[in-house]
Amino acid sequence: MNVEPVDVLAFSPHPDDADLGCGGTLAALASRGLSFGIVDLTRGEMATRGTPEIRAREAREAARILGARFRETLDLGDGGLRTDRAAELRVVEAVRRARPRVVLAPLPADRHPDHARAGRLVPEAAWYAGLAKLETELPPHRPDQVLYYATYVLVMPTFLVDVSATFATKVAALRAYRSQFHDPKSGEPETYVSSKGFFEGIEARARALGRIANVEYAEGFVSNAPPTLADPVAAFLGYEGGKRT
Ligand SMILES: [Zn+2]
Repeated sequence: MNVEPVDVLAFSPHPDDADLGCGGTLAALASRGLSFGIVDLTRGEMATRGTPEIRAREAREAARILGARFRETLDLGDGGLRTDRAAELRVVEAVRRARPRVVLAPLPADRHPDHARAGRLVPEAAWYAGLAKLETELPPHRPDQVLYYATYVLVMPTFLVDVSATFATKVAALRAYRSQFHDPKSGEPETYVSSKGFFEGIEARARALGRIANVEYAEGFVSNAPPTLADPVAAFLGYEGGKRT
């Protein structure tokens, strides 16, 4: 595992959640020359379809498509994500290894309890990672901000990211999860996530968020602190159909 310092570190409760919730944004960051890594908190071993080995291969392929510098797995237990001190220290170490400026985490209000737990564990550990007296193998580091992405719940985002240019890349990354998402040729039992409707819902969600900003596709993020805009005029250009430039 070649973990290196990155601008953004995305935490994914299961392999595929970060891809699903913020894959378009991650690909957009990479295309702008920013670096990102992905940390899967579990191996997804409780999933109805696929095996941890298949899912690890799929997750590596998806990370490559999105342009991640690395993807690592902490193995904190699918279907009962551990959030005790030992688990928290694993996340602290992941933050200190990658030294990101921004951390992405699932919304604590998300539907799957592992997502909800991750939505509390990750920001708390990201903050603790900055404590000089919390000694681990690595020096302290506190990210500037934790931003939340949603995979299920509908919330009004604090801000949007236009992912029109990278939505196809996100879909290609999600298609790499052949064992999880819709595949008419799969002989495995159909689940909520593998249904055709689920995949269509991903696009519908991105289109609905895009409508707010009058762009084709967008991803939404929730932040505890409002972002500082260098140019509030530029930030809303085109919302009501005016020219974007
Ligand atoms: Zn999940």
